[in-house]
Amino acid sequence: MILPTETVYGLAGDAATPLSVAAIYSAKGRPQFNPLIAHLADLASAEKVAQFDDRARKLAQAFWPGPLTLVLPVKAGGQVCDLARAGLDTVAVRVPAHPVALAVLAAFGGPVVAPSANQSGRPSPTTLADAVAETGQAAQVALEGGSCRVGLESTVVSLLDEPRLLRPGAVTRAEIEALIGPLSEAEADAHRSPGRMTRHYAPRAPVRLNVLSPLPGEAYLAFGPATGPVPAGVTVWNLSPSASLSEAAARLFVDLRAADASHPTAISVAPIPQSGLGEAINDRLARAAGWIG
Ligand code: AMP
Ligand code: MG
Repeated sequence: MILPTETVYGLAGDAATPLSVAAIYSAKGRPQFNPLIAHLADLASAEKVAQFDDRARKLAQAFWPGPLTLVLPVKAGGQVCDLARAGLDTVAVRVPAHPVALAVLAAFGGPVVAPSANQSGRPSPTTLADAVAETGQAAQVALEGGSCRVGLESTVVSLLDEPRLLRPGAVTRAEIEALIGPLSEAEADAHRSPGRMTRHYAPRAPVRLNVLSPLPGEAYLAFGPATGPVPAGVTVWNLSPSASLSEAAARLFVDLRAADASHPTAISVAPIPQSGLGEAINDRLARAAGWIG
């Protein structure tokens, strides 16, 4: 099922059924060592599949339903199958804030895996049309939920030992640190945090970052008020004319796709401030450009 959430559209299935989970990995072309997030209707349901400590409960109570995923020790007898967890003894859990997702989760009752509904390595879909274009063939049902409010994947925090930020997102580092203290960086070990692979979220065109003067033939993702005339031969998408980071996050993948569809020589992107939500935007852009892995 194509399922809208407030972050991005997911390709959703029963987390307890290996055949359903295998079909999702296959439809996305996603390597099976990259575990999936289990989505639940509420904290009580999440506590049935993962072991919560005080820190986890504090974060869940503050940010759920919402764009925060917690990586926790798996609970014995929990319903998230081995394949969904990539064989790890940990599980990633989240309660999404979209009314359609919550209604489906409440009606279904059990955990639902719902990785972004894109082909692995491509930008996440933030509209139903983009989701259907990417993985619609694998889905029997696709639910309309409008344009995703957040537009970037959830923040992922591991609470296995010291708290670690595995993936920045709309719940910011500062908001989390205010509740549970300093966050360590993700381990270099990509296996513990497989979403950190190189060239993720990538359009077909090459991506250049921190560009102030785009070249002819390029598509340009601007940020903030226009400062001068558009150079000849450059097509411009402005992520946020008013320099709002939340607007830029919500538009990032839509504009990346639109820019890519114009078949530019490259997509060049204006500098984006690193503060708050900017950390998550710059993380996705760096992966789209193949800068980090
Ligand atoms: P995605 O489904 O693409 O939004 O990605 C889910 C993210 O959560 C990936 O970056 C995974 O590496 C991470 N993740 C899911 N389950 C686990 C787990 N058990 N341990 C560590 N990271 C996880
Ligand atoms: Mg994804």
